[in-house]
Amino acid sequence: MNTREFIEIEEKYGAHNYHPLDVVIDRAEGVWVYDVDGKKYLDCLAAYSAVNQGHCHPAIIKALKDQADKVTLTSRAFRNSQLPMLYKELSEMTGYPKVLPMNSGAEAVETAIKAARKWGYKIKGVDENKAEIIVCTNNFAGRTVTIVGFSTEEQYKDGFGPFSPGFKIVEYGNAQDLESAITPNTVAFMVEPIQGEGGVVVPPEGYLKKAFEICEKNNVLFIADEIQSGLGRSGKLFAFDYEGIKPHAVTIGKALSGGAYPVSAFLSNEEVMSVFNPGDHGSTFGGNPLGASVARAALKVLVDENLIEKSFELGNYFREKLKAVGSPHVKEIRGKGLFIGVELHQSAGGARRFCEALKDRGILCKETHDNVIRFAPPLVIKKEEIDWAMESIHEVLLMDVKVEA
Ligand SMILES: *Cc1c(COP(=O)(O)O)cnc(C)c1O
Repeated sequence: MNTREFIEIEEKYGAHNYHPLDVVIDRAEGVWVYDVDGKKYLDCLAAYSAVNQGHCHPAIIKALKDQADKVTLTSRAFRNSQLPMLYKELSEMTGYPKVLPMNSGAEAVETAIKAARKWGYKIKGVDENKAEIIVCTNNFAGRTVTIVGFSTEEQYKDGFGPFSPGFKIVEYGNAQDLESAITPNTVAFMVEPIQGEGGVVVPPEGYLKKAFEICEKNNVLFIADEIQSGLGRSGKLFAFDYEGIKPHAVTIGKALSGGAYPVSAFLSNEEVMSVFNPGDHGSTFGGNPLGASVARAALKVLVDENLIEKSFELGNYFREKLKAVGSPHVKEIRGKGLFIGVELHQSAGGARRFCEALKDRGILCKETHDNVIRFAPPLVIKKEEIDWAMESIHEVLLMDVKVEA
């Protein structure tokens, strides 16, 4: 079957909750994906940073296959021999003493919300059902009803109410706004150190540090959502590392499994995690041995292949090259590490047509919002592959630009 036929079947039987580019991927390796017609593309999205380690990384796939032959699911009614090792390795790598495993990113965020509220009632002393969590404008934290309830994106909420109370929204990047929103009932400030879905938005330098200090002063938990920005994407293990802070809790997901299997986690200090007692929270698949084994391998690849440092260096290189194009369509080039956003002027006619044009030249990108092209290739990308891609990116960014004679 060819691309057209697969798309027809998908459109006929599937829910239309996505608007994908018309490429039907059949297999992938490293930074390259191949469609059903045999055409090859450089993946510059990396499954929203879930495949930081590259597609089908041999070490991760080996862990997946080996564990699949042993035991895949025990449920947490019993213990398994992979989870303790994931706990230990994740804790040693991140410096967080406690780990709670889940599957999707949204579940890790839900876990963070439950932890923060219960910490507020049991430890901070907030009155029952009064806890407030502060979030930011332009946030993205997943698609559950509670999470979309505090989104500022109207489409994410439209038709899905009523929503959970207990959230307050402040302006992203504005520490003053955070400080004014805090009340004695505030239990947590939950923030993406770099907003991914929001358009790779990097807050002003010093903002996270200031926000952290405000939280400390007011006995409010600072929870970093590093599901997209974490695990090397930003050129540091965590994007908050750029400001030298240590949030009280962190959510991770996506690249935690290198894209081979859904694995997420909530990381925190001892005090916060102590609020969970047997029966308080859980998930049938959370912490399963297959996912734990895959996550252990995925973390090991980040370290063994120096992917975090590579992201830092190649990210700077990629941004320099993009700036050198000097396209009049471009309003701003931003990001850290290989987490790059190219914001276009309104007059450019939307990012989608640029993504379509890149696709035709063998590069896969996805627009975020209407005017931002995100470049976030697997961190295993080579400098020569960036150079190869830049030839097409250069052409596409200069689309319809009249050159003066
Ligand atoms: C993707 C994402 C989530 C949600 O993860 P899912 O696995 O899609 O549920 C949460 N927070 C951030 C910052 C994300 O980018």
